[in-house]
Amino acid sequence: MSPALHQLNADLHAHSSVSDGALAPRALVARARERRVELFALTDHDTVDGVAEAQAAALEFGLRFVAGVEISVTWAGETVHVVGLGIDPAHAALRAGLEGVRAGRLQRGREMGEQLARAGIDGAFDGALALAGNPDLLSRTHFARWLVHTGHCGDTREVFRRYLVAGRPGYVPHRWAALADAVHWIGDAGGVAVLAHPGRYRLDETRLDALLSEFRALGGAAIEVATSNHGRHEAKRFANHAKWFGLEASRGSDFHSPDDGDVELGRVDHLPSALVPVWHRFA
Ligand code: AMP
Ligand code: MN
Ligand code: MN
Ligand code: MN
Repeated sequence: MSPALHQLNADLHAHSSVSDGALAPRALVARARERRVELFALTDHDTVDGVAEAQAAALEFGLRFVAGVEISVTWAGETVHVVGLGIDPAHAALRAGLEGVRAGRLQRGREMGEQLARAGIDGAFDGALALAGNPDLLSRTHFARWLVHTGHCGDTREVFRRYLVAGRPGYVPHRWAALADAVHWIGDAGGVAVLAHPGRYRLDETRLDALLSEFRALGGAAIEVATSNHGRHEAKRFANHAKWFGLEASRGSDFHSPDDGDVELGRVDHLPSALVPVWHRFA
């Protein structure tokens, strides 16, 4: 691999207002260009509906673009995210699969609102829904923004400590896609499957190894190593996992909003030179 490939400012994980991001696809791409991103992927949760607008904007602004998606998966009772890069957004099986994953978000949101009401917080469902561009992509992020806007919490970090997580008010367990289905939808649509932010999962080393083995056996090709979700220690840890499991590595900010001060498009560490950047396939 040429050193230039490692140094490329690739940001292969970001969200628009089509899912739980704050910026419309076009504005997101404009910001990526301003922040000197050189290769950019839109990876909205469980939808490809923003890809056409982002792709057109990238063409207009002269930014190299990769069509992407971030699929919500339930694996061994834990929620994990699988990013698909280089997918055909028109692929019928992928679209049908994503539609199935989206179903149920609205009902889950209603139950989250009821739980929060029992904890003394009224109006969360309507408030979160008003912040969501698409009702079928109603996300915990929209609840978090509403809880901050209404002064119930100081910031989203506090929200996810006090609410919306297992054992706290507003947490409603949900069954997402099967890992095999997500990886196959991505592969069938011509894309490459990347396990997102492995450092975020509450899995011990044994279960993490099982996840990585299964992911690779299903056709998964890469894991995120450089992401705003990882500290230095985790980046190093997952660089070692990538090498050990023969997986390529990805880099992405997981940007959602200009209001999340510590996360910015294109602002992530570069990959260690010993890893194979997954974007050798696109760059
Ligand atoms: P959902 O898919 O509706 O369960 O929402 C998951 C989203 O919530 C993620 O994509 C993040 O945007 C956000 N999220 C989850 N955990 C946290 C956290 N600890 N801090 C900030 N945002 C989080
Ligand atoms: Mn999100
Ligand atoms: Mn994620
Ligand atoms: Mn994400």
